[in-house]
Amino acid sequence: MDLTLTEEQKEFRQLARDFLNKEVVPHRAAWDRAESVDTAIVEKLADIGFFGMTIPEEYGGLGGDYVTYCLGMEELGRADSAVRGIVSVSMGLVGKVILSHGTEGQKHEWLPRIASGEALACFGLTEPDNGSDPGNLKTKAVRSGDDYVINGSKIFITNGTWAKLCLVFARTGGPGPKGVSAFLVPTDTPGFESREIHGKLGLRGQATAELSFTDVRVPAGCLLGSEGQGFSIAMHSLDKGRVSVGAGCVGIIQGCLEAAVDYSRERTQFDRPLASFQLVQDLIADMSVDADAGRLLTWRAADLIERGEPFGTAASKAKYFCSEAAVRAANNAIQIFGGYGYVDEYPVAKYMRDARVMTLYEGTSQIQKLLIGRAETGVSAFL
Ligand code: FAD
Repeated sequence: MDLTLTEEQKEFRQLARDFLNKEVVPHRAAWDRAESVDTAIVEKLADIGFFGMTIPEEYGGLGGDYVTYCLGMEELGRADSAVRGIVSVSMGLVGKVILSHGTEGQKHEWLPRIASGEALACFGLTEPDNGSDPGNLKTKAVRSGDDYVINGSKIFITNGTWAKLCLVFARTGGPGPKGVSAFLVPTDTPGFESREIHGKLGLRGQATAELSFTDVRVPAGCLLGSEGQGFSIAMHSLDKGRVSVGAGCVGIIQGCLEAAVDYSRERTQFDRPLASFQLVQDLIADMSVDADAGRLLTWRAADLIERGEPFGTAASKAKYFCSEAAVRAANNAIQIFGGYGYVDEYPVAKYMRDARVMTLYEGTSQIQKLLIGRAETGVSAFL
């Protein structure tokens, strides 16, 4: 793998950073307090191409490669993880599986709308009683003539109250993963309801929702892939999503590093800048190593995707390492800011609150370790 970025990749990263420094960074604290971004940001993000980064040009996207995608996710994570989540769920989790598993009709119907930001999408997998164990999900889809009728509920769904499209995982067959199917459900279908969950620790600017489906009737053409393929579609999507979370976490680490370096140079104690204390440099050095190591792990996974090689374990390693490292970096940054790190005048408290969920969603750290352990030993620890 060549680690030298191309001129196009460097330009994209700079463009993304300049845009986010102007349109997101100055507002992120206010959006966090208000528990909502200004949704006008969605159109601006779309205009610069964030929602179409890896969607091919024929469907309205930029057709970019996965390393470029990681660069975009890193810049979004550095600016505001709440905003990154809006993009990475809509385009990353949902758009990409429509691309890999959808019919031409489904691709033409949804991908241009997702790429243009006109339609946000959400990913409806987690249920109140099934988080780490989605193969046991309870939401049901029953065939009725030319339609399916969906009943059930989902929880913690990012973009849930804003989305026009929901990728819903529901049971069409018997128990276990093989009975799960995936459906592309327009959220204006009668019987679909969403309710925002307030009071989150972090990612407060994005809409996280509880969804309910009461006799939601959709044409059979809304089935993504074939009956019983839903679980493998979900896992395929999450594998790629983990690369995005990893890259977003690198952005958090980088943001913490930059903030801590600036502050440690300006702030003096004992008549010397904090940066001159070896114990402060120790904290900064750990952040710097974690940023580089996280970047290499995510780029490696991205490179495998690009080459069409198996990437699931590499994605788990990237997600596990980067999410844990993001929490460490935010913790170190708060330590360097002292009491000022504990209030929201500086970005580090928000980095900490946002980082905390990264070890939970799209597969907790424990689940990543089980997947990595299974790959190493060939023995499934689930059973
Ligand atoms: P549980 O599965 O109940 O786990 C609780 C604890 O038990 C964890 O520490 C876990 O690691 C541990 N555990 C569970 N099983 C094992 C095991 N076999 N071995 C060892 N330890 C184990 N979901 C979506 O579908 N779409 C979304 O867009 C989405 N967005 C989210 C946004 C936010 C802000 C949050 C908080 C969650 C979101 N989620 C979403 C849900 C998220 O993916 C789940 O919360 C996550 O998968 C964990 O499930 P759970 O919360 O039910 O925890």
